[in-house]
Amino acid sequence: MPRERRFRADNLMETIHTVAWMKQVAREARRNERILGLVPTMGALHEGHLSLVREAQGQCAPVVVSIFVNPTQFGPAEDFQKYPRTLEADRAALQKMGVDYIFAPPPEEVYQEGFRTFVDVEGLNARLEGRTRPGHFRGVATVVLKLFEIVQPRFAFFGRKDAQQVRIIRQMAADLNLDAQVVVCPIVREADGLALSSRNAYLNGDERRAATALYRSLDAVQREIAAGERDVARLVAAMRRVIDAESKVSLDYAEIVDADTFEPALALRKSCYALIAAGVGSTRLIDNALIDADGEAVRVTV
Ligand code: AMP
Repeated sequence: MPRERRFRADNLMETIHTVAWMKQVAREARRNERILGLVPTMGALHEGHLSLVREAQGQCAPVVVSIFVNPTQFGPAEDFQKYPRTLEADRAALQKMGVDYIFAPPPEEVYQEGFRTFVDVEGLNARLEGRTRPGHFRGVATVVLKLFEIVQPRFAFFGRKDAQQVRIIRQMAADLNLDAQVVVCPIVREADGLALSSRNAYLNGDERRAATALYRSLDAVQREIAAGERDVARLVAAMRRVIDAESKVSLDYAEIVDADTFEPALALRKSCYALIAAGVGSTRLIDNALIDADGEAVRVTV
């Protein structure tokens, strides 16, 4: 078989359930100097996930998509049990795209009896998502480090949808001298602006309509900035106004933060994020816009 076909024999995608076999495949890819790309997900795949896969396929072969609902990143009162699990549909979508491997281990493969080692990216993990979801980023950093060890990717693809998560993973990769290069991909949205999320499946009709408030609050920031507004407090107030006007949506936080520290930005300087988190019914959603300031010129990417 020609060498470059080795990872796509007959276009058959392989689903790997054990750490040992995944490591074996990763080792072989490395030995053959293949550029392995990893797309970590929790499954219930949507177009946002698939955009990461497409990006990975443009840069890497083979591509591994991990599907693992990671128990350590869910709080005790969170939706770990009811989180959507749609492995067969996920598999069909990835097969159609020509993905090489799915890594879908059961929890006990990843967390063996007696597991007691965690990664904490201090400081960056304490505010915003980390404050509302204590321990969340410790679970995320730990599982991503484990995935990097098991899959040995040269590139790993993440969505800007989870901006604080990406910042934390980048910090971990730098601090721990990890080989994987972290690639950040744009947010994929519905036609009405709602950012795609596996949790959107929880929304009923009214909630689905109300959920666009998150996007609309970011759009308000974009419009205010286009109209010349530069004051951070007034921009945050504009975000809040949109959320407050929607009775089905309860604000968790609306902030404009420095993209490096994730501390509140005092002025629009360098890169910032407008971050929003809100409950829609019993579903918690997050979204963000990237604000790039260069002198008076400010570019907003929602
Ligand atoms: P999850 O399955 O929610 O853990 O997400 C897996 C990856 O997909 C993460 O890197 C997310 O940031 C990314 N992702 C989720 N939703 C979107 C979206 N709407 N656009 C782009 N990337 C996304």
